Amino acid sequence: LTDIKQFTVRRSSSEQSCAGVLPPAGHFIGGTFVPGSSTQLIDVVDPTTEQVITSVQAGTAADVDVAVEAAVAAQKSWGATTPKERSEVLSLIANIIEDNREAFELIESANTGKPRTVAEDDVSSTIDTFRFMAGASRTLTSMAGGDYATGHTSVILREPVGVVGVITPWNYPLLMAAWKIAPILAAGNSIVLKPSEQTPLSTLKLAELVAGRIPDGILNVVTGQGRTVGQRLAEHPDIALIALTGSVVSGQAVAETAGKSVRRVHLELGGKAPVVVFPDADLRAAAAGVRNAGFWNAGQDCGAACRVLVHESVAEEFTEHLVREVGTLVVGAPGAGDDVEIGPMISRPHFERVKESLAEAKDAGLQVAIGGSALEGPGYFIEPTVISNVPAGAHIATHEIFGPVVTVESFSTTDEAITRANESPYGLSASVWTRDSSLSLSIPKQLDFGTVWVNSHLVLACEVPWGGFKGSGYGRDLSLYALDDYSRTKHVMINHSA
Ligand code: NAD
Repeated sequence: LTDIKQFTVRRSSSEQSCAGVLPPAGHFIGGTFVPGSSTQLIDVVDPTTEQVITSVQAGTAADVDVAVEAAVAAQKSWGATTPKERSEVLSLIANIIEDNREAFELIESANTGKPRTVAEDDVSSTIDTFRFMAGASRTLTSMAGGDYATGHTSVILREPVGVVGVITPWNYPLLMAAWKIAPILAAGNSIVLKPSEQTPLSTLKLAELVAGRIPDGILNVVTGQGRTVGQRLAEHPDIALIALTGSVVSGQAVAETAGKSVRRVHLELGGKAPVVVFPDADLRAAAAGVRNAGFWNAGQDCGAACRVLVHESVAEEFTEHLVREVGTLVVGAPGAGDDVEIGPMISRPHFERVKESLAEAKDAGLQVAIGGSALEGPGYFIEPTVISNVPAGAHIATHEIFGPVVTVESFSTTDEAITRANESPYGLSASVWTRDSSLSLSIPKQLDFGTVWVNSHLVLACEVPWGGFKGSGYGRDLSLYALDDYSRTKHVMINHSA
């Protein structure tokens, strides 16, 4: 195999600016935007142009404390609302986002560099998340009570946990916020949310648009760094539960801090999804699946189909299909056409890390089948890359790269495929490609991942849970399981024997 394509960055002739729709600066506390207690600011950068879009407050522990106070006050009456009332608020949020789709898409593309089509998908999924949780909130129920001790009747209640601290990542800023906000509010809790310091704009926009239309203080946003704002959220005594989507290192830090006061933690962390291709699979479909699911959002996705394990008898044929597929990807700026599928890496440090991983792979003598290099700036663009004939245990195939890089390893027996797929610190998602119906269930049952797709990859729906095993964390986003995670169970036993 040789390089079959020279990628270039397609630039936009008419850059679509988000300048006219930027949210106000400040933290969103108690229903209004307020200045922070520090004068320090954080620049928010467009990774396509490397230009500063705007700056936001570098929040402090004191800012978190003010926001938690507002959230505690608001939760009292919010927690006492009926599921129907909460459902109406969530439907309203969905409608507000729908009415402002264009603004959200512009902001998200500018702040992350993601193609407009990906931003459109993010906004659609965000709306659907709020709509699903609006309905789901009305199903929140407990096991039936009963008479389990003579003269006593038990009632089992589902209650909100109280104030939930939320910390979100940069890869899907609005959508990851929605995955938390919707079930947390649906279950009757209030929120203090810290968006990623790199991508706070769409969350602040949401705050701006819901201000005055939902009860004040149920959703608060404090911008800033993880080690200050995030750390304070994790240690604040009035926060009942802390939910983080992010890297393993951040999850460990939050869990350690929250553990000191035995508070609940909900963690959606990294992933390195294996794609196990059996010899009977439809190889073209598998290659097309990896093209889409390995390179969506430029591979900056915790469920990305980034590590192929293919049977040795079809490895060469599969790799040829994959290289052909990947060669059709268009790299470019968000506004450079609907066919652009690959945007830049989120930041210069992340861009440098991905380049380093590629350099290490080349130094180790691995075979780059397509791509493999950074593209000319401005912007943090990396070529869509396939590295083939990767030996078992290679660093690039076992560590999260979080870029447009897919590795291909081969296996000889089914047992070996399962063992090697499971030999990962992560357990978020995996896929299996086969036309054998008995393998369709027997293999997923042996894989240690929270989601396993068969003949598909990265397809999500609000009705089904998302979350990991092992180093990928615990707790579930989406589905009724998320509602469960954000509520608590209380048993009331009534003695009526007198
Ligand atoms: P990150 O861990 O660097 O940052 C995530 C958030 O945590 C940010 O808001 C950050 O400020 C905060 N943070 C960092 N250190 C902290 C600390 N010590 N205490 C409290 N908060 C802290 O992650 P990222 O680079 O923004 O996102 C990429 C990572 O997120 C990847 O590992 C990816 O796999 C993971 N991710 C997972 C899912 C999932 O559903 N499992 C979804 C998206 C992203």
